[in-house]
Amino acid sequence: MEIRRFFVSPSDIQGNTVTVRGDEFAHMTRVLRYKVGYSAIVCANDGIEHSCTVKSISKDFAELSIDSSHIADVKGVNLTLYAGLLKNNKLDFAIQKAVELGVDRIVPFTSANCAENKFSQDRAQKIALEAAKQCGSAYLSEVGKLVTIEDVIGELQSYDDVLFAYECEKEHRIADCKPKGKRIALIIGPEGGFTADEASRIAKAGASTVTLGRRILRAETASIVACAILLDTLGELDCK
Ligand code: SAM
Repeated sequence: MEIRRFFVSPSDIQGNTVTVRGDEFAHMTRVLRYKVGYSAIVCANDGIEHSCTVKSISKDFAELSIDSSHIADVKGVNLTLYAGLLKNNKLDFAIQKAVELGVDRIVPFTSANCAENKFSQDRAQKIALEAAKQCGSAYLSEVGKLVTIEDVIGELQSYDDVLFAYECEKEHRIADCKPKGKRIALIIGPEGGFTADEASRIAKAGASTVTLGRRILRAETASIVACAILLDTLGELDCK
């Protein structure tokens, strides 16, 4: 039987005991029909994998004992992707791929040329959870609530470096950037792109404007390509 992966809060690991609750408990017991004695891998979003055995199953939670633990992944950077909200749930695809690539946080935003204004954070977080499990990540990427481009600009100073993929930039390639520091942000626009005023305010807030090449990519493609190039440049796609 395949050993399945579950995510818990750090506070759900106490000594040698892990408590699985909430949606993960429901998935474990109702969907996967886990029983006492089954094996599981449990992660608490810190890069450590715990190999566990189910010891008891109650109405609302399961208790597992930790058999062994090891550091599965050490990240050198923490990447936040600010992505313009897309029509027809197209951001789902970008979120799933961003998680697979190792993006730590995805924050959707609305802006002047954005044609959508509805976003379910819960639904998107479930997509991120499924993607993290499917790709065997020891980290659970966080999906933020929907914010405005003004909020995004206001947050930029909290990063060590910010890259801004702008469709009108024709010179500075993202692959040539050498971001400094640990906390990095990347900004990708919605289908309609950015207004000149938004672009100028993002740049004034300290972001480095970059191009993704001479063709205009769809917004969801742009998110995936930019994350892949940036994370590879930072060594985050290496095997070790
Ligand atoms: N409506 C815009 C236009 O016609 O120029 C295109 C917007 S594009 C579909 C959506 C977002 O993807 C852009 O705002 C940008 O963040 C990113 N993007 C797509 N292609 C890009 C490129 N070649 N260079 C930099 N960013 C790009």
